[in-house]
Amino acid sequence: MTSLYQELETQTFRLAVAQFEEAAERLGLDGNLRERLKLPQRALIVSVPVRMDDGNVKVFPGYRVQHDTSLGPSKGGVRFHPDVNLGEVAALAMWMTWKCALAGLPYGGAKGGVRVAPEKLSRAELQRLTRRYTSEILPLLGPEKDIPAPDVGTNAQVMAWMMDTYSQEVGYAVPGVVTGKPLAIGGSLGREDATGRGVTAVILEVLRHLGLEIARTTVAVQGFGNVGMHTARILHEAGAKVLAVSDAKGGVYSSRGLDIPTLRSRYQSHVRPLQECGMGEFISNDDLLQLECTILVPAALSEQITENNAARVRCRILAEGANGPTTMAADRILEENGVFVIPDILANSGGVIVSYFEWVQDVQKYFWKEQDIRDRLHEIITAAFQRTLAFSQAKKVSLRMAALMSGIDKIGQAHTVRGLYP
Ligand code: GLU
Repeated sequence: MTSLYQELETQTFRLAVAQFEEAAERLGLDGNLRERLKLPQRALIVSVPVRMDDGNVKVFPGYRVQHDTSLGPSKGGVRFHPDVNLGEVAALAMWMTWKCALAGLPYGGAKGGVRVAPEKLSRAELQRLTRRYTSEILPLLGPEKDIPAPDVGTNAQVMAWMMDTYSQEVGYAVPGVVTGKPLAIGGSLGREDATGRGVTAVILEVLRHLGLEIARTTVAVQGFGNVGMHTARILHEAGAKVLAVSDAKGGVYSSRGLDIPTLRSRYQSHVRPLQECGMGEFISNDDLLQLECTILVPAALSEQITENNAARVRCRILAEGANGPTTMAADRILEENGVFVIPDILANSGGVIVSYFEWVQDVQKYFWKEQDIRDRLHEIITAAFQRTLAFSQAKKVSLRMAALMSGIDKIGQAHTVRGLYP
């Protein structure tokens, strides 16, 4: 083990590396490549001093990690959350590399984050934090170098501030430096709900594969942020009965199914937490994960389904909207129990796929219709699912292993033909 590995070693990083090592072993990946690919290519740690509204200065730790750039600029979100640390960001960056490769995008993987609770900041403080973080990681960024996007705790407004900070520094507007921006500055139609739309498209393919009908399915969604809320909404529109949804403080449950559009509009008008929205009964996040349902969508944080609760997970299909929600020990239990797991790097890839469309539109300065975006997203993500399913059947491995192996194999080939510099 190298010392860099030890510095990164947190639970989430260990999970990402353990998944990588199993996939690399099955692929027979060259040992030198394995040593390189289990570590990031670059990792930058920054201090982000912010003048708070009361006049005091607080300093927040920030990170940007680029796991691999062999296929193109690195791509991945920025997370503002109190638990952010270097190991977690490095794990998330590695998953972005496999995710982009699996979808066939010309990108490597990256991730960034600031250890901060954004809901505790005023809008002005959030803007100052975002701008200072952007300026600290600026040497790494650029539309041909590294392209951030929203993730947990960030949104289109945060991307607008990042785009503006970068553009002010270089002296001209560079919309392609971030994706997930507002439409007014070169954002893309269909980016906002792209991850949820992608999760739903893959679920519909899986239902067809298993011979199940959407109108007879029940759904539970953990997380009511960008991914969870749109997934619940689009599955509800497609005819599924959504039994439960939750946010960080717990959720709501109704055996007759929740009225998701009403719940969404109350939640968006800041009736929070969810159980204050006056619909359904309270359900804890632990109970939600153990609800009997057809489709369970963890769409919050990592390591939610572990060896401690996996045996009590009672869904037919587990669709990972979040990154890394299932540990490897839990994976084995779910497999024994016949749960069909749609792995994160496949299930939630709709976000980065439409980010790619946004970047292509920015670079070409030619914007597409929403229907074109939806059609192309559908085409790419369903093809990725079909390829991964065929691979898993041919190699007799889980869908997760098949997805990881496909992504890792592409990166391995790129490294091999490019050769080791110098
Ligand atoms: N944060 C999202 C993810 O984890 C999107 C990344 C992107 O669009 O670059 O996939």
